Amino acid sequence: MSDTDGKKTLGVGGRGGRPGNVKQSFSHGRTKNVVVETKRKRVVVPKPGAAKPGSAGPVGDPSRRPAGITDSEMERRLKALQAAKAREAEEAEKRKREEEERAQERERRRAEAEAKEREEKEREAALKAKAEEEERKKREAAEAAKIAAQPAPAPAADDRKAGGGARTNKTPERAAPRRDDQQRPSNKGRDDGGRRGGKLTLNQALSGGDGRQRSLASMKRKQERARQKAMGSNEPREKIVRDVQVPEAIVVGELANRMAERVPDVVKALMNMGMMVNQNQTIDQDTAELIVEEFGHKIVRVSDADVEQVIDQVEDKEEDLKGRAPVITIMGHVDHGKTSLLDAIRNAKVVAGEAGGITQHIGAYQVVQDGAPLTFLDTPGHAAFTSMRARGAQVTDIVVLVVAADDAVMPQTIEAINHAKAAEVPMIVAINKIDLPAADPNKVRTDLLQHEVIVEAMSGEVQDVEVSAHSGQGLDQLLEAIALQAEILELKANPKRAASGAVIEAQLDVGRGPVATVLVQNGTLKQGDIFVVGEQWGKVRALVDDKGNRVKEAGPSVPVEVLGLNGTPEAGDVLNVVDTEAQAREIAEYREQAAKDKRAAAGAATTLEQLMANAKADENVSELPILVKADVQGSAEAIAQAMEKIGNDEVRVRVLHSGVGAITETDVGLAEASGAPVMGFNVRANASARNTANQKGVEIRYYSVIYDLVDDVKAAASGLLSAEIREKFIGYAEIKEVFKVTGVGKVAGCLVTEGVARRSAGVRLLRDNVVIHEGTLKTLKRFKDEVAEVQSGQECGMAFENYDDIRPKDVIEIFEREEVERTLD
Ligand code: GDP
Ligand code: MG
Repeated sequence: MSDTDGKKTLGVGGRGGRPGNVKQSFSHGRTKNVVVETKRKRVVVPKPGAAKPGSAGPVGDPSRRPAGITDSEMERRLKALQAAKAREAEEAEKRKREEEERAQERERRRAEAEAKEREEKEREAALKAKAEEEERKKREAAEAAKIAAQPAPAPAADDRKAGGGARTNKTPERAAPRRDDQQRPSNKGRDDGGRRGGKLTLNQALSGGDGRQRSLASMKRKQERARQKAMGSNEPREKIVRDVQVPEAIVVGELANRMAERVPDVVKALMNMGMMVNQNQTIDQDTAELIVEEFGHKIVRVSDADVEQVIDQVEDKEEDLKGRAPVITIMGHVDHGKTSLLDAIRNAKVVAGEAGGITQHIGAYQVVQDGAPLTFLDTPGHAAFTSMRARGAQVTDIVVLVVAADDAVMPQTIEAINHAKAAEVPMIVAINKIDLPAADPNKVRTDLLQHEVIVEAMSGEVQDVEVSAHSGQGLDQLLEAIALQAEILELKANPKRAASGAVIEAQLDVGRGPVATVLVQNGTLKQGDIFVVGEQWGKVRALVDDKGNRVKEAGPSVPVEVLGLNGTPEAGDVLNVVDTEAQAREIAEYREQAAKDKRAAAGAATTLEQLMANAKADENVSELPILVKADVQGSAEAIAQAMEKIGNDEVRVRVLHSGVGAITETDVGLAEASGAPVMGFNVRANASARNTANQKGVEIRYYSVIYDLVDDVKAAASGLLSAEIREKFIGYAEIKEVFKVTGVGKVAGCLVTEGVARRSAGVRLLRDNVVIHEGTLKTLKRFKDEVAEVQSGQECGMAFENYDDIRPKDVIEIFEREEVERTLD
């Protein structure tokens, strides 16, 4: 009977379904599992019994006495019972779980000690009892068979209820059980002799003697319990029920983390459910729910989009808003002097303050005009501007439209005007190259009228300034005009909140890992901040300002290089600081998945359905696939965007892939598979890619002006390719050593590795297959003599005109322009 009892209790526990307990037991072993449940059951018992503790006490005592308990023990028990009652009352009243727990534990220990004593005595008693009470046994034997079945169910039911109660009282339960046991007859019985007590009561009703028979089994159980306690003394530790947030898919390790359970336990639990996964694999929400419940926690389902909600969207209070610097983008047609103007402004304003005036290019910089900072974005052109807007990052407050005074309004000038208008960003016209004799600023002004840009000089609203990036003329007026415009805009931000910003530029730096230039738009970005940016996340390891200084934080409108990303984001990606790494990772993963789904749905035919649809759509439209590799993300994106716009009813351009860095064999492979040319913007193919391309007949084209690239593709798309002036590479040389020569500057000791080096030819300096300078040679020397040409395999000395950041291992590309037949198709 005792055995049946034990089983039933166990069974009940299982049915009672305290999964948390079950789990724990799994991790530690089955036995433990059982133990945990038993305890809870005990806990439960106290509650129901609490109503009639007094009566219970007396009943319990008699039942035990037959088992051979001494008076002193009885007294102790009574005392214990009283104490326990008192405590229970407290519990009910105060619910100070912790205190109670402690008290209860003490109690428990006492009870355990007693129990052991009792057990020993009981054993003796049991032996005696058998001999002494044979008569009873005879009676009982008959009844016991019938009764056994009855009593067992009753306790089981109790236990279940108890289980329910126990869950609600997480902590107190364990300590409580013992006390309770002592208090109540039935409980006491259990405590002292295992579950015997419960049966005894029932049996007593029927016949007093049963208890003795069961005492042996109950003793075993007692011992078992004691052993378990000894082994897993930490088990009674409070089980905390957590609200576990689970998105639509979650990584096993993260789920364990959120439940504060051990990963192996969770993996085991999954295995028990027949799922063979490791901690890095993702499970769905339904599976996660089973696991969460199994561990006794509560699941809080969050839909995917909810994960974004942790991003702080609180409106700033008016009093928190402080003035911020305007962010200026310079736009205009190619060669109208955007870069020169940006450099001129920077040099005019930065050189004075900075030692040596060394500034680094991070895609943006700040200058101070009359004590007020102005932030300039130094990103490639219009497409970057639009693609940023498309990504939800409106970073520009003011557009400076550069128009060369010796030229006129050109296609890209118009494009820039349209972009500025679409973004509703005020414009300032800078009429550049005013130093040139051919300068005709008034022609520019009249030209602009046709595009609905009416400058102040024409009694309009748009400020116009005549400048020269070369002489520096008008720069101050330009900056003043900007400052004035900024004042009108009353730009404000709240430096006190968690930072948000936009990526201006991002790249994978060999030494530093992924690096992003972020323009902080609101709040203050600090070292150590955890953030999500587009599909990436990270923790700010270091911040570097536009002067190359390490800084601790960056406030609104400050551009800053951010280190500590886990991947390279894209220009225009929005950065948000969040509270925890888990949140950041979750949002990044969600976005990555969402983007993947979107691509799958929109782009490459992934399903048969889509394949069919594409085939239908393509019936009358020919497609020009291309691959784009560029030096920085901004350029790659700008080109990809421009490509999307090319095309008409008959033809369209499809960018198979665009990326940053040298052209690799993988790129060539993809190009070959799709019959696409590879367009390199300020990057080159590495040696193996070049070989493969030659073998496979894949065309690689290099560009250093986006406009040229766009033009070429446009022409190809419309089948209008004609002969044109094109560059031809005539040689490559590798820099072996760099010397300093007085009067000349830095001279590169080179080995011509391919073709010829020609003094009259154009040269480019490549570092890691990325173009870092383009210009002409100042000298080409063979031994001490100036020569016109150096052949492959020979050494020579070269120096660049106006440029001397050269290093060993750099490669010099020597090219000439010639008329060639266009082959792009
Ligand atoms: P971007 O393509 O708009 O960035 O134009 P760049 O800044 O590269 O300038 C194109 C060319 O115009 C370069 O050769 C510059 O030296 C020249 N340039 C730029 N600004 C001026 C200027 O104010 N005066 C003169 N004379 N030349 C200029
Ligand atoms: Mg430029």
